[in-house]
Amino acid sequence: MCFTAAQSENGGVTPTRIKLDRGRGALGPALELVHTGRAPTRAVLTTELGVTRATAGAVATELQALGLITVDPRPHAASGAQGRPSHRLDIAADGPVVLAAQVHADGYRVALVGLGGRIVATAPACMTVDADPARIIGDAVAAGAELLRTTGRRCLGAGLAVPSAVAEPEGTALNPLHVAWPAGAPVHDIFRDCLTEAGVGVPGRCGNDVNLAALAEHRHGAGQGSHHLLCVATGHRGVGGALVLDGRLHTGSAGLALEVGHLIVDPAGRACHCGARGCLDVETDPLALLET
Ligand SMILES: [Zn+2]
Repeated sequence: MCFTAAQSENGGVTPTRIKLDRGRGALGPALELVHTGRAPTRAVLTTELGVTRATAGAVATELQALGLITVDPRPHAASGAQGRPSHRLDIAADGPVVLAAQVHADGYRVALVGLGGRIVATAPACMTVDADPARIIGDAVAAGAELLRTTGRRCLGAGLAVPSAVAEPEGTALNPLHVAWPAGAPVHDIFRDCLTEAGVGVPGRCGNDVNLAALAEHRHGAGQGSHHLLCVATGHRGVGGALVLDGRLHTGSAGLALEVGHLIVDPAGRACHCGARGCLDVETDPLALLET
């Protein structure tokens, strides 16, 4: 047991340290609960983790010492709530961030995003997307690196959203219909190389833009607290879909599941870039609505 080992090695172990040794495995789950807004107080954290109040207190104190959350030193009663007042928990305002980048048909946007999904800084850019994906991905990563330099924030990882299904695990753009990239462009490898070149030494992952939006909505937005989420979205061009089942993305065998944009809604409709006619993608996307 951790208790015995810690005691025999250190002799004068403090009660807080002993409790934390017991609850060390709860640090990740506890941070996730605060990160997703499901544990606004220490009392809720205790219940959600299923540990003693003392262990939850030690876990919260450790997360605070790591600069990840803040613990209100004075307990407050929740308005209208019954029971004992509890210490409020919040995300540390100056904690670590991730670099989030999105390439779309009209350019890119990058942002630094902290725990709790809070946007720390963002930079948009409007441009024609070159046929070589390395051009715009390189520009986006350079802009993100500049945000990191100006804010001085610690970066833990990077993500790139692209307007195409992305094959797993190859990390290739399967159907980039709204940008001039070749089908099969190795976006994951390009993103990784751009991060290295820009001096952002963190791992990077790529995904389809609507899939990533659905995951974000499930964790922090419209789908919070639900098991499943269906997301149908349109942004700069086209229509995309994504399905979250029990908290996990359903991407199908080839990464093309829920490509709802190419459902045919009018067989006599507009010609679509996929070769068919009357797809949702060209009948309802922003350009189609602007033309009517
Ligand atoms: Zn189509």
